[in-house]
Formats: sequence, C-alpha cells, structure tokens
Amino acid sequence: MPIQQTLSIIKPDATARNITGQIVAKLEEAGLRVVAQKRVKWKQTEARKFYAVHKDRPFYKDLVKFMTSGPIVLQVLEGNNAVSKNRKVMGATNPEEAAPGTIRAEFAENIERNSVHGSDSAENAGKEIRMCFRKPEIVG
Ligand code: ADP
Ligand code: MG
Repeated sequence: MPIQQTLSIIKPDATARNITGQIVAKLEEAGLRVVAQKRVKWKQTEARKFYAVHKDRPFYKDLVKFMTSGPIVLQVLEGNNAVSKNRKVMGATNPEEAAPGTIRAEFAENIERNSVHGSDSAENAGKEIRMCFRKPEIVG
C-alpha cells in the first residue's frame, strides 16, 4: 500500500465545541499520522478559492460563510492509502448516512456543519496541501 498524504480540515462547528482533540484521536486510531497542523481563520477569498470546485452548487455561498465563521484546523495526514483511509474514518457527507463510529456520525451537526473536510483524490490532496501549507511546515 502506498504511503500518501491528504489534507484534512477540522471545521468551525468542531472548533466551536472544543472537540478538535477527539477528532484527532479518531484520525490517529485509524492509522493516520498528523505531519502538519495549524489553527487559522480563513478570509472569504481563501474559502472561495479552496471550494471553487463547488462554485456553481446551491450550497456554495453558505459553505463559504460557514467556513469563515470561526477558527479551523488545517492538517496534513500521512499513512497507507491516506486519502481513502481518511474518507472512511470521516464518514458520508450527510451525517445521517455516515457509518456508525465515523467522525461525522459521532460529531457532525448536519450536512453542512459536518466537522471535517478530507481530500477526495490523491491529485486533489496534492493541490489542497499546496494551497494550505509551505513545504517546511510539513514534518513527517
Ligand atoms: P465532502 O466534504 O464529503 O467531500 P462535498 O465535497 O460534496 O462533500 O461538499 C463540500 C462541503 O459542502 C460538505 O462537506 C458540506 O460542508 C457542504 N455541503 C455539501 N453538500 C451540502 C448540502 N446539500 N447542503 C449544505 N451543505 C452541503
Ligand atoms: Mg469534497
């Protein structure tokens, strides 16, 4: 299995409830390693750019508003098949459909305020990591 890196974000609903540690514990239990981490507050321009793939979706405007509403924790996760491993431990976008024990099943408030982001492919992981971190900030 290839060692990969993926981008993870702990979203404002989770930082507001002080559950970032519980989320990191789930990621680590799944075999993922946090090799970069920083707490930031995004400006509108950063959130718009990050979610540009969704710019024509009906939820885009609210998503940008939500993602700029409070602090977020950006992370690079590393491990075997990190992209799909992270998607699995995150659970489905809609917490009502998320498998028991996943982060979203346990912590998400609703389909928008769903506690975490994770890259959906190795290609997007590379792009998102480059958008959020400089090389020296990632220490494996
Ligand atoms: P995922 O985060 O699981 O990859 P998407 O990439 O489809 O999901 O969507 C990005 C984010 O947009 C979701 O995590 C969620 O915060 C929000 N979102 C997605 N679908 C909806 C929806 N139908 N209504 C409100 N917000 C949504
Ligand atoms: Mg996505």
